[in-house]
Amino acid sequence: MTQITQSDLFEDLNAPVPQAAGLFAEIVFDRPLDHAYTYAVPERLREAVAVGKRVQAPFGKGDRATIGYCVHLGTAAPARAVKEIVRVLDDEPLLNANLLRLTRWMADYYLCGWGQVLNSVVPASAREQAGTRATVFLEAVTEAERPQPPPKLTPKQAAALQVLCEQRKPVEMQRLARLAKCGAAPLESLVEKGIARKLVRRVDTFDAAQAAAAQPQEAQAERVQLNADQQKAWETLEPALRAGGFRAFLLHGVTGSGKTELYLRAIEEVVRQGKEALVLVPEISLTPQTIQCFRGRCGDVAVLHSHLGSVERGGHWRRISTGQVQVAVGARSAVFAPTRKLGLIVIDEEHESSFKQEATPRYHARDVAVMRARLEGIPILLGSATPSLESWHNAERGQYTKLTLPSRVLDRPLPQVGLIDLRHDMPRGAPFQALSPALASAMRHALGGGGQVILLLNRRGFSTHIHCPGCGHVESCRFCDLALTFHRERHVMLCHHCGYEQEPPKLCPKCGQVPVRYQGLGTEKLQAELEEKFPGYVVKRMDSDTMRQPGSHAKLLSAFRRGEVHILMGTQMIAKGLDFPNVTLVGVVNADVGLHLPDFRASERTFQLLAQVSGRAGRGPRGGRVLVQTFNPEHPCIELAAAHDYGRFVAGELAQRKMHKYPPYQRLARLIVRSRDQQEGADFADRLAGGLQAALTTLKGPEGAALDVRILGPAEAPVFRLKGYYRYHFQLQSPSPAALHQLLRAVLPALRAPSGVEFTLDIDPFDML
Ligand code: ADP
Ligand code: ZN
Repeated sequence: MTQITQSDLFEDLNAPVPQAAGLFAEIVFDRPLDHAYTYAVPERLREAVAVGKRVQAPFGKGDRATIGYCVHLGTAAPARAVKEIVRVLDDEPLLNANLLRLTRWMADYYLCGWGQVLNSVVPASAREQAGTRATVFLEAVTEAERPQPPPKLTPKQAAALQVLCEQRKPVEMQRLARLAKCGAAPLESLVEKGIARKLVRRVDTFDAAQAAAAQPQEAQAERVQLNADQQKAWETLEPALRAGGFRAFLLHGVTGSGKTELYLRAIEEVVRQGKEALVLVPEISLTPQTIQCFRGRCGDVAVLHSHLGSVERGGHWRRISTGQVQVAVGARSAVFAPTRKLGLIVIDEEHESSFKQEATPRYHARDVAVMRARLEGIPILLGSATPSLESWHNAERGQYTKLTLPSRVLDRPLPQVGLIDLRHDMPRGAPFQALSPALASAMRHALGGGGQVILLLNRRGFSTHIHCPGCGHVESCRFCDLALTFHRERHVMLCHHCGYEQEPPKLCPKCGQVPVRYQGLGTEKLQAELEEKFPGYVVKRMDSDTMRQPGSHAKLLSAFRRGEVHILMGTQMIAKGLDFPNVTLVGVVNADVGLHLPDFRASERTFQLLAQVSGRAGRGPRGGRVLVQTFNPEHPCIELAAAHDYGRFVAGELAQRKMHKYPPYQRLARLIVRSRDQQEGADFADRLAGGLQAALTTLKGPEGAALDVRILGPAEAPVFRLKGYYRYHFQLQSPSPAALHQLLRAVLPALRAPSGVEFTLDIDPFDML
């Protein structure tokens, strides 16, 4: 990155001197930790320029015309001459004032460039106006504009002119030719003779009605009578919705407690007020069923997510920004939906880690949404059966208002959860199998009774590693410190982090003596065992290998709903939000996957996953149960998940977090230094450490107190080598986000990584590996 300072730009004496009452634009570019630059707006671009549009302006070495966003316009002339913008790229602003304020906040909070945020927030399809076509229209000139004397017209030209005048508005060329029953030539002649002129306008090619009709139609959500718990929550919620103004609610409702009904009522209320609602759900829950549930009950719905084609995505974006829909539903990035009169934000499954973006800007959609609600002065409703510890803590501190749905609707009990101890309950000496006799027999019983079964195993592939019984070698990725997983269907060894593939070896690649052993259980192996043990039943696997095609996830769920699949098994994809009344048994094949990761959220995630997948059982009148296989039955997170005891789990977990100075008690920032050369990476990490320590000793917080920041590191990251890079990391902990910001702002802008070394900053990190 070439560093440009504001004064560099002013040094160019050839730059034009601003005229009196000139117009000046503040432009931000797609650069890290950068600020806005001032440019003059030349006379010819005065009409076209606007805040929220992209422009081209000379920037950087050699003054290359560079694309940036106009974030402010003013007439106050800067002290020194500035350069001019050269082009305005957009017909309409891409962002409204609210989104500009929100993205400005993001740049400050996540310590990245405002231009970087804008670039990632506005989908490419909206920038390129995907779903629109530049179309030529013909318009008759006014009487006064007609040339004198009037030119002679052929009969065809006269007829075409008459048709055009009758329309009283510009008509698309091709349509006019059809209406006037003539070719293109007479129309061109009208233009040449000065009787008509051509206009170019963008017209929509995206047909929302058609796109909606193409979706499978699932049953609409009926308006049900609220039960007592829902009614109580509604009585708190409704006045806040009527009054408007910022207020955050945390709706803690067990699985199947009817949270969706409250979302729907809340949305209905703001739609009634003529406002719009924004609903965020995890990507995986964005099924036709979910979308359909809002469509119909609440009005017209636009959908935003990454699997949409660019025409559809651009089309939905435009429908939202022109106020044609009442509800925008989408995954993480939908938090930037360009609504006009937002009245409410709803976030379902607010604890989901997929709301965190793992590329710059590394934002958390829930936190951005709360800030958006604050900036726009509207209520926000966060819902979950297992709220994140951050949100729970905020509710306990009184920042959020807690709403509780403690039991399932219609007095349905939560399913009974049984633990199977894999240390003792597996037959000794028998060949490896995934299912304990107890789980297998419960499955036979459930299937025999006409019920369906869901099985969770959160690890894809066939064998999770290969291992040499002779020398102990485990085959790992050439680029990462991670074991390769054997995928039998594709017959490859695969790295789940970088995608590196190699052929499976027969003999140990290290000692060359002994045939390797395939070990560890993945979803492919489980599927093979199920097909062997349950002939005559249809088994389907749902993981990122089988669900590559967009839409395949929804298709398989529909088949499961229709009863065409008896056993649905797979990774965490199957655990989320599905409501299948006929599921009478849920099995967790190995609850310990993920429990021992070096990540302070490992217990929280495991608890959430177990609670979510258990929640799939017994949602119909036939009831249901859950069996969990584990080597750690006395681990609090597994024990309390089995007891459906979120309250005791959070209490214990919060105490741990407090003791270890982790969120939600302290804020974290993570710095990662990576380099292909280990020594260069280590050297730079040491320099960074020196910079941080020096700043920490000199900087003063409010009232002159020392900054309360703890710096851990540099240390090797838990996955030291990833994608061919050696990685060192720092963890910065502080009770005050402001102190973290102050320290990082003092150190980062002055820091120049040598070529070959990169560093990234992650505020409120989720990925700790
Ligand atoms: P959650 O999101 O809390 O897991 P859902 O909102 O999916 O639960 O509700 C589960 C089922 O209960 C849905 O089919 C819903 O239509 C139904 N439901 C919700 N509220 C009521 C109610 N008051 N009476 C009867 N059924 C209800
Ligand atoms: Zn790898």
